Amino acid sequence: MQITDEVTALKGIGEKSAKLLDKLQIHTIDDLIHHLPRDYEVFEDAVPVGQLEENCKNAMLGKILTAPKLLKLKRLSMLQFYAGEGEERIRITIFNMPYLAKTLKAGTTYVFVGNVYKKGSYLCMDQPSIYKPESYAAKRKELQPIYAKTKGISNEALTKYIKASLKELRDLPEVLPLQTIRELGFCSHLEALRMIHMPESKEQLLFAKKRLAYEEFFYFLLSMNFLSEELSAGSNSHPMIPVADTRRLIEQLPFRLTASQRKVYEEIENQMCKGEAVVNRLIQGDVGSGKTIVAILCLLLCVANGYQGAFMAPTEVLAVQHYEEIARMTEQHHLPFRPVLLTGSVSAKQKREAKEAIEEGRYNLVIGTHALIEDNVIFSKLALVITDEQHRFGVAQRDKIAGKGENVHTIVMSATPIPRSLAIVLYGNLAVSTISELPANRLPIKNCVVGPGYRDTAHKFILEQVQKGRQAYVICPMVESGIMEELENVKDYQKLLQEKYGDAVRVACLHGKMRPKEKNEIMDSFAGGDIDVLVSTTVIEVGINVPNATVMMVENADRFGLAALHQIRGRVGRGEEQSYCIFVDTKGSEASKKRLDILNHSNDGFHIANEDLKLRGPGDMLGVMQSGDFAFRFADIYDDSAMLLRASGDVKALLAEDRLLEMEEHAQIRHQLELLSEQDYRNVL
Ligand code: ADP
Ligand code: MG
Repeated sequence: MQITDEVTALKGIGEKSAKLLDKLQIHTIDDLIHHLPRDYEVFEDAVPVGQLEENCKNAMLGKILTAPKLLKLKRLSMLQFYAGEGEERIRITIFNMPYLAKTLKAGTTYVFVGNVYKKGSYLCMDQPSIYKPESYAAKRKELQPIYAKTKGISNEALTKYIKASLKELRDLPEVLPLQTIRELGFCSHLEALRMIHMPESKEQLLFAKKRLAYEEFFYFLLSMNFLSEELSAGSNSHPMIPVADTRRLIEQLPFRLTASQRKVYEEIENQMCKGEAVVNRLIQGDVGSGKTIVAILCLLLCVANGYQGAFMAPTEVLAVQHYEEIARMTEQHHLPFRPVLLTGSVSAKQKREAKEAIEEGRYNLVIGTHALIEDNVIFSKLALVITDEQHRFGVAQRDKIAGKGENVHTIVMSATPIPRSLAIVLYGNLAVSTISELPANRLPIKNCVVGPGYRDTAHKFILEQVQKGRQAYVICPMVESGIMEELENVKDYQKLLQEKYGDAVRVACLHGKMRPKEKNEIMDSFAGGDIDVLVSTTVIEVGINVPNATVMMVENADRFGLAALHQIRGRVGRGEEQSYCIFVDTKGSEASKKRLDILNHSNDGFHIANEDLKLRGPGDMLGVMQSGDFAFRFADIYDDSAMLLRASGDVKALLAEDRLLEMEEHAQIRHQLELLSEQDYRNVL
């Protein structure tokens, strides 16, 4: 079997399964073995009732103390019994499996795995997984992979397919420099994948991940080197002069630019007007530091000089928001923008007309999502492309947009805080401008971390703020009730709040499963003040700006990464009013307390990223795998920073010796690089 074979080459995968795998973007054996576990099921030590931790998953070893009682409620059946030892007992409830009454006999000992919570003075566990102590002990030896799956393919099936492929495949040609492998003691790529899918221990997982992370950095940096050489080699072929429009807009804004906003804009203006080389720059600034207005000024300079500009955002909601803001400013300040919005949900007819007008130069500013870089959008005089929330786009996308015109200036904006030493490596030849301060009129956000018992108080607090004319967000991890019963979901929460507040308060919900048009309408009404409380999933994480919103309440905050929480919190504290952020820690474990405490005491993204890093032990694999702000598959820029620097050194040395990778001994590396650039999985820049 070859890595390039279709999945159907594997015994047991027919047309039907292949179709289902297709939904997971798995087409070849290569895709299959790179479909990584999203998490691992860890079989923790089973403990007696006395040592259980509340509000989280536990494995409990105990005897069934009372014969299971069968209760019937309409169509629901419930089996209930107590388990434990002597007086230390827990109530166990099992739904809709009445037949278990025969198997679960009083006096037998089992391991029960499930979420433990308290009801009155009772400890309870619902719908646990139940194991015989011997079989649980056997499971404990391995970490069981959990994959992202789709309807029709179970986790077991995926595990089976992946295992089978890994078993059949022969080792692949080595794609890393042999010296690095020797010095760092790496295993082969295939061995590493075997360990990632079927780890015997966390240590093994970590060992395997090291090699794959290095490999990813190595090829990312290598391709960046070629790409950025091409990008920044260009000369400044769009002559511009400073214009009155930008000066006037700066004066007429309702606020004064901060010193660092001004400095960053001037740096760029200077380079666009006087520089010899094309602009290729990253604007880095914490959430709320005011990156948008700097982008607007740069675009204004560009169109006032008779060119076209493009402004690209990762989500439609954000693109629409940028469009509306710019359209409003254009009218209010009589700016020379002729803007058009180009996103996935613009109708085909409108799109066709827009494209025609762009090609003829009737629009001079195009704002949109990646629909904007579709091949058939043709610009007549494109000089500048700005990408917001850069880390969410791929390298190839940036490459593509630069291909829309000769020597196009590119500016990318990001709120992901990266230490300078890493930024230089990760962003290659990009110049970095930093907006290092928040606007002066901001009051620091007041934070608190609370337990679920505080919910009622928080809801009252939100009501008070709404009565003062403010707005609020409530974030829940789930869209609707379903598998993860213990987590809050947007739909039920919205109903609950609406009932609680009555008709005087307008509560709406927003989530990723809605159609784009519906999402836009809701965001519009929220921005326009027609919705008071927005219950949402993390779709609002990126970029959204509603300065009148002053409360952010995050449910199940322990479920989110710190970086994500910092971005979510950044949705408030954007105006002059005092803002508040309430993190509800439903887990309440020592670890989650420690983590949330970091957010509680700091509003500084850079500080948070550093502290987060300190808290993560090297064995903390699982958390790291999920924190994909930079969308590497294995590597984590913070956690693997040493590896990143090492790879950067190795790439430099390699290219110093053989700049075009022409030597025979580098043939494999060149081949791999070509393969990867076709696949385009290098997602950072
Ligand atoms: P981000 O850097 O997170 O993208 P935005 O550009 O969306 O931040 O700006 C957040 C809010 O701050 C917006 O409402 C914007 O109008 C406002 N703002 C930007 N610059 C200033 C400033 N110098 N003084 C006061 N408010 C500002
Ligand atoms: Mg922004």
